[in-house]
Amino acid sequence: MPARRVQQFSESIIREMTRLSLRYGGINLSQGFPDFPAPEAVKEAAARAIREDANQYTVTWGLPELRAAVAEKVRAFNGIAADPDREVTITCGAAEALLAALLSCVETGDEVVIIEPFFESYVPDVLIAGGTPVFVPLRGPAMRWDADELRQAFSRRTRAIVVNTPHNPAGRVLTRDELGQIAELCRAHDAIAITDEIYEHIVYDGREHVSLATLPGMAERTITISGFSKTFSVTGWRLGWAVAPAPLSDGLRKVHDYATVCAPRPLQQAALAALALPPSYYDALRADYTHRRDLVRAELEGAGFRCTKPEGAYYVLADFSAIRDVPDRAFVEWMAAEVGVIGVPGSAFYHHKELGERLVRFAFPKRDETLHEAGARLRRLAAVVT
Ligand code: PMP
Repeated sequence: MPARRVQQFSESIIREMTRLSLRYGGINLSQGFPDFPAPEAVKEAAARAIREDANQYTVTWGLPELRAAVAEKVRAFNGIAADPDREVTITCGAAEALLAALLSCVETGDEVVIIEPFFESYVPDVLIAGGTPVFVPLRGPAMRWDADELRQAFSRRTRAIVVNTPHNPAGRVLTRDELGQIAELCRAHDAIAITDEIYEHIVYDGREHVSLATLPGMAERTITISGFSKTFSVTGWRLGWAVAPAPLSDGLRKVHDYATVCAPRPLQQAALAALALPPSYYDALRADYTHRRDLVRAELEGAGFRCTKPEGAYYVLADFSAIRDVPDRAFVEWMAAEVGVIGVPGSAFYHHKELGERLVRFAFPKRDETLHEAGARLRRLAAVVT
């Protein structure tokens, strides 16, 4: 039997859905990865690094030049001051940084606050670390938490909160006011904030991404996590970072050291080329994603779904109750088998499963043709059913 710590959770439903799409050969809008190319300059830098034999381990915390570049990036974009030698760690994706953060902060029995819906790693990460997740739901079409529910989630046992903005899957970009509520509770309960800002550059309609670490009293208690996967369309490179004050970085680095030794060397070198891209790259990224967001919503609503309007990130939560009266899992399996479009059952993102049982999450980092074809298939089928 596997150890109890891994019996507490099941394997990723998102990756299971990807396997479903391979079986049925459908359009996979389940896992959040682009079906369009990464920037040429970044790919070229990776190829060059391998050819030039930059193929051995780096120092565990990451190439010094890359840590310096990340420190400069978080200073200029996020407003966070970080010493690249002590406070920046290059990890194998934000995913590894999140696990290393929780493993290095959480004692057995500590509580960790998680906003639901949530990115599915958070719960297993907390459980592996020996912690107990405490859930605070986003409610209603506006996807806001109730301030009292958030307050009640914090207690003497609270060690940390995981904060994801821009949010997967809800599409929320947390406001300064919302982040202020979290900051106040962290200060009052001496809790650590672990932020997941992997979608920091994908925001819509002129919204501002705010890093929790920049709020008063938060720099010393926040681990800020982000990475290259989403901003540069290289999810398979497994390259991210954690920025945290030295005492928190020291703990996280120990886990990172023994878990992975270092992130892939040639890709770290290529990541320097990514961070050197001009501001126009980020403007185009936002404009292209705004177009995709509007396109996917139009396609889904044309097929009878009711959709969230994402403020950031690249997912839409779509309510299918007007199309079929079945649970979310059955709906997704039916779509896979009959329609050839795959999404993720909404309840996968909830502890309180009933909150997601009429929802499907669709990922839209896809070419126009892919989104049009998904829409056409869904409309044909909706026409048959209704
Ligand atoms: N956090 C969120 C909210 C995500 O959506 C994802 C990827 N889907 C990750 C973290 C993982 O990012 P990475 O590829 O850097 O591990």
